Amino acid sequence: MRIGVQRFVDRRFCVFCAVILLFGTAPALAEWKTGAAKVLITPDQPLWMAGYGGRDHAAEGKLTDLWAKALVLEDGRGCRAVLITLDLVGLDRKLSQSIREAVAKSQGIGADRVSICVSHTHTGPVVGQNLAPLHYLLLDEQQRQWIDQYAEQLQLKILEAARLAAEKLAPSRLSWGSGVAAFAVNRRENPEANVPQLRTQNKLVGPVDHDVPVLAVSDAAGQLKTVLFGYACHATVLSFYQWSGDYPGFACSELESLHPDCIAMFWAGCGADQNPLPRRTVELARHYGRQLADAVDTVLLTSQLEPVADRLEASYREVSLRFDTLPTREQLQQESQSATKQLAARAQMLLKRLDAGEPLSDCYPYPIAVWRLGNEVTLVMLGGEVVVDYSLLLKSQLSGKRTWVAGYSNDIMAYIPSRRVLLEGRYEGADAMVYYGLPTRWNQQVEETIAGAAVEMAGKTAQEMERTAETSQPKSP
Ligand SMILES: [Zn+2]
Repeated sequence: MRIGVQRFVDRRFCVFCAVILLFGTAPALAEWKTGAAKVLITPDQPLWMAGYGGRDHAAEGKLTDLWAKALVLEDGRGCRAVLITLDLVGLDRKLSQSIREAVAKSQGIGADRVSICVSHTHTGPVVGQNLAPLHYLLLDEQQRQWIDQYAEQLQLKILEAARLAAEKLAPSRLSWGSGVAAFAVNRRENPEANVPQLRTQNKLVGPVDHDVPVLAVSDAAGQLKTVLFGYACHATVLSFYQWSGDYPGFACSELESLHPDCIAMFWAGCGADQNPLPRRTVELARHYGRQLADAVDTVLLTSQLEPVADRLEASYREVSLRFDTLPTREQLQQESQSATKQLAARAQMLLKRLDAGEPLSDCYPYPIAVWRLGNEVTLVMLGGEVVVDYSLLLKSQLSGKRTWVAGYSNDIMAYIPSRRVLLEGRYEGADAMVYYGLPTRWNQQVEETIAGAAVEMAGKTAQEMERTAETSQPKSP
């Protein structure tokens, strides 16, 4: 109800702006206002680390810090949205909703205008219930307490980052460009050990998305204040026991050292089937970070940026994503005795829910957010670990390189295969569902459901922008 009321207030304010512009009594057309801030989220305790099933003990120290960053955008009509980026592997639905609602309340907007995107670094901590079967049977009581405390502190720190960002709101100019970086490799199609040779021979195969989208935010004097950039590739260069932001963290540090007073924010694309290869050394993580920062800097320094008009439309929807045939209680009871730890953990978790009277649902409320900036740039934010096919498909159907499709947004509940990957099966198509604690694979409508809804939402935000732009135009006498 509160969200509904807030949306009404937002809309009423926008209509008010349109009306005063229509009657010619408004001041000169306003401009973007933005503010950005960052807050440390490196754990104080030696927490269990997230992302790999083979880990057998907690973190041992820190290579680099982890950050929560917030960008508050407000268009010329006063319509606001908040983007949060986190150096974490993932967030579960419950925690993400709680954080989005708290941020929205503190900013006086609806939760549908707050998006949280993670970098998917595999050298970050376990957060809430995300990927719970990976460590469900391994954690002692002390670890569980620390994990709960970390989630509580994380929410407060993100609220603090959003508050600081809003305090810094100031007139800004936005511009958009797209660069390229080539270290992401389709991991389903190229055996990891052969990648160096295949790369040398120019024989790497499989779909990839090497675009590097850049949203540059400058102050009124033209000074770069925030740069938001992305890449469609797993943050899995490192797999050891030290906290780090992996290659996205190094890319942000590099950009922030090249551009003092600028906050660099990374959001991961549809890189679920993409790995940075070769990998596994700190030098390579730094190297890929520098490559990505160079790609961003090339866009910034060579005037490949186009101005973005000061208009924002934001929409959010949860679509029912259906599962394949659900397992029976008997099947789960059998699985709960499995020698494979994660399989047993998933079955035990699901049986616990059944015993509590909570039947398994045949679908999942899958989150999609679409923001439109200046009637040119389309930002699609999809939940889960999304394979690259979605990025290529949505870019081809929307505004090409003026579209960015972020994965790992708002709820990282599972891998999201395309129909092709689902039918091929293997890890991203089926097996990884176990690690997310979901009962079975998605059904064959997965791509149609998500891509269809995203395209429809993008169309509606574009129409809404055109409609409000028309009513904002001063009429000739
Ligand atoms: Zn992953």
